Amino acid sequence: MKILKTPDSMYAACAQRHHDGRRIGLVPTMGALHEGHLSLIRAARAQSDAVAVSIFVNPLQFGPNEDLAKYPRTLERDCQLLEAEKVDLLFAPSNQDMYPAGATTFVTVEGLSERLCGRSRPGHFRGVTTVVAKLFHIVEPDLAFFGQKDAAQVAIICRMVRDLNFPVRIVICPIVREKDGLAMSSRNAYLDPQQRKQALALYRSLMRVQTLADTGERSTAKLVEAGKDVIAEEPGVRLDYFEVVNPETLDPVSDISHGALVAVAAFVGSTRLIDNVVLHGASESREPSVG
Ligand code: AMP
Repeated sequence: MKILKTPDSMYAACAQRHHDGRRIGLVPTMGALHEGHLSLIRAARAQSDAVAVSIFVNPLQFGPNEDLAKYPRTLERDCQLLEAEKVDLLFAPSNQDMYPAGATTFVTVEGLSERLCGRSRPGHFRGVTTVVAKLFHIVEPDLAFFGQKDAAQVAIICRMVRDLNFPVRIVICPIVREKDGLAMSSRNAYLDPQQRKQALALYRSLMRVQTLADTGERSTAKLVEAGKDVIAEEPGVRLDYFEVVNPETLDPVSDISHGALVAVAAFVGSTRLIDNVVLHGASESREPSVG
């Protein structure tokens, strides 16, 4: 695996691979890699000729009171994992290289960026779209892989790619969970054993909503109420939002007949966790019943 530290050296390495006729799959990450990240890398391996991974804890997507300073940084271990996955290129730039003094250009997907996590994390998605746009220019990937775990991010990146004509295909990979259902996240490392148990309330709330939807409930209001009730049963967990929205526009929907994204964010202690489930519309989910 080649490790590239500057945008210019990464651009050159990627250009060489393009020149050789190889299709590049890009997996952007902030490191502290876990099985969720590795699932994206394996998908990239299967669908492209050369896999590029970026590890960059992007300061632009953290708010002033968020966990930028304490975000886990485990580059040495990450490199071993990436070597084992036969990644071709690792891009691990410094803040200065990504944002030289005087950098004042940003990419914003208006509207969507203020929804879900964007409401409680102002500026977060502007940071995400700006860094992803830069990565797309540096790598010029044929394919880029993102996790459904960050459902709003997926919607926003897809909108950016469409609106700005980035010549890249976005591949969305399913959420990887621990055995008990907790969605894998680098931030799970912040949880002590008690909080780790409390954190399961997020998954439980989504499963409750999924079950209700499976048994015919269509009203968003009823589903949200049921999901919030599950969170409220766990006193260690403070809800940020529990919403049912259109997965592409992130607009609230009043019923789930045509499918919907159910998204939850909550604090366990000072750790903010997110999770979601996609409910499929009646016509998408099962064969028509007979008789
Ligand atoms: P992060 O390092 O948290 O910025 O995540 C990098 C990429 O990995 C994003 O596209 C995430 O959506 C994806 N990802 C993180 N956790 C998971 C997970 N549990 N399952 C699937 N993808 C994930």
